[in-house]
Amino acid sequence: MKTILTGIRPTGNLHLGHYFGAASNWLKLQDDYDFFLEIADVQALTDNFHQPEKLASNVFLLAVDLLSIGIDPKKVHIFVQSKIPEIAELTIFYSNLVTMSRLYRNPTVKTEIQQKKALFGQQGESVTYGFVGYPVSQAADITAFHGELVPVGEDQLPLIEQCREIVRKFNSIYGETLIEPKPLLSETPRIKGLDGAEKMGKSLGNAIYLKDSEEEIKKKIMGAITDPKKIQKDDPANPDVCMVYYYHKLIHNENLEVVCKECKKGERGCVQCKKELIQKMLEFLKPIQEKQKYYYEHKEEVYKILEDGRKVAKEKAEQTMKDVRHSMKIDY
Ligand code: ATP
Ligand code: MG
Repeated sequence: MKTILTGIRPTGNLHLGHYFGAASNWLKLQDDYDFFLEIADVQALTDNFHQPEKLASNVFLLAVDLLSIGIDPKKVHIFVQSKIPEIAELTIFYSNLVTMSRLYRNPTVKTEIQQKKALFGQQGESVTYGFVGYPVSQAADITAFHGELVPVGEDQLPLIEQCREIVRKFNSIYGETLIEPKPLLSETPRIKGLDGAEKMGKSLGNAIYLKDSEEEIKKKIMGAITDPKKIQKDDPANPDVCMVYYYHKLIHNENLEVVCKECKKGERGCVQCKKELIQKMLEFLKPIQEKQKYYYEHKEEVYKILEDGRKVAKEKAEQTMKDVRHSMKIDY
């Protein structure tokens, strides 16, 4: 059985970007692989070190979300990164195998630094060693479990490439020890935000969360970007530039063809179209939210699942660490 490792940062709840961009794929894969699913609190600290309480509450909420979309803890080892100190140890060893200029060239890190500058102005300028180095720690996440496949959204591809480079370098210096992982993308690997931005992201304020209330869903969808050229209700419009149509498509509205045709012919106003999407979205979220409610009321069950996941993850990471120390000749 091949091993899968993937992760998610406890910086907020799951949103549609996670669900359709990555997690829907996890649901399909969970039957056929030895699956490690990491709640990456240490990575989240790299840009949230000043607000650790945010992560503490989000670890629980995120675990609830994962269970509520159908991740089965009997099949998937869900665990928290900081509970596996071997990952931190590996990170230190790998940090010698990466140059600073290579880290700064990582396209995802570059984009995220730019986003921080845009969001926080001057404050965003001060990028920490930990943040620039998070791809190294992510390489440790993957290799600690000998992850062969890493199912992720498109923004993660440069990080996996960087992990592959680290693995090759490690193996060439210390001897064949680690497995080079391969990324695995879903059919929709980059989900756009409500504002039309290329990525829906927790840190970008443009997301529909799986736990959003009816009020929040209404407000967000009513404010979503539509074709700016459509002024009057009966003007024909281009659904391909409309976020409302985009989400109709995403949640597989069975009337999609009608929505598209009417939109192009000017036979449907944006308000009507948004109201229909709100209804469809609420229907889509209902079963997930029912499960969320169950887990919010059964906290111990959630923490027990995380503890069970930790045990399996710990055992595997300890073995990897032994092999790594042996290869590096530091098992004295
Ligand atoms: P943050 O802004 O804190 O980094 P995030 O929304 O980017 O949060 P992550 O925890 O970094 O979420 O990502 C978890 C997984 O979800 C990754 O595999 C990532 O590629 C995927 N993902 C996140 N947002 C999207 C999106 N908009 N489209 C496709 N995949 C996504
Ligand atoms: Mg991210």
